[in-house]
Amino acid sequence: MRPVKPLTYAAVAILLVACTTSPTGRRQFQLMPESQLEAMGQQTYQEMKKKQSTVASGPSVTYAACVSNAIIDVVPREYRRDDWEVTVFRSDQVNAFALPGGKIGIYTGLMKVAETPDQLAAVVAHEVGHVMAEHGNERVSNQLATQLGLAVASGVAASQTEHNRELVALLGLGAQVGILLPFSRTHEREADDIGLDLMSKAGFKPQASVALWRNMAKEKEGGPPEFLSTHPSNQSRIDNLQSQMDGARNSYRRALSEGRRPNCSRPDSFPSGDGE
Ligand SMILES: [Zn+2]
Repeated sequence: MRPVKPLTYAAVAILLVACTTSPTGRRQFQLMPESQLEAMGQQTYQEMKKKQSTVASGPSVTYAACVSNAIIDVVPREYRRDDWEVTVFRSDQVNAFALPGGKIGIYTGLMKVAETPDQLAAVVAHEVGHVMAEHGNERVSNQLATQLGLAVASGVAASQTEHNRELVALLGLGAQVGILLPFSRTHEREADDIGLDLMSKAGFKPQASVALWRNMAKEKEGGPPEFLSTHPSNQSRIDNLQSQMDGARNSYRRALSEGRRPNCSRPDSFPSGDGE
């Protein structure tokens, strides 16, 4: 019987220890220490700020900060962090992103399409949801595990020992917890769920989330914005939001009764971008 290679033992150990739970209770697979993801997020963010045109100050920055701070204030304690950073990028792209480490980017093109503070809050809350749920870690872990899995599987094909059959079973277990499944739709839906909850608790009208995605869909007719290509907008996303609207309205009413109604004034115009 051929000895199992050290790599395969390492793979099994990783598969067994790397399961965590997301804020919505979904089982997650994370191989990387979150601190490492945060360092990667921080570095990428610095590079983006250096290479792309940003807005340093002015009404659009004040507006983005007002909406973002209201959302960040209601993040549950266990996900709270002090180092959230929001940057306004001067670009006509209808886009926004979030990176591990609490780094958020909002493009002026998106700020034009989001017609009210409540609609902008829907985007920011969605992005905060991605960070809270550590989706970046899952995405990277998925890629790593697929590579590792392929390496192990090729070893299995070479020798069908008892150990290796066990290994195949364990890899099957890995697939069950989702490492080999496409993540993006799951992540989008989870970020939508967390986002709707956060924006309502912050005192933004939850129905604005649906209005935002309708606006985005309208925008798509003039050419495919980046945000839509990475954030697929479709009827099922709107249906999912609608299905949670009763609960969200309750959270919203509670926020109002507790005096949370952010007063963020939307500028009449936003800096135009380079079209990049
Ligand atoms: Zn998203």
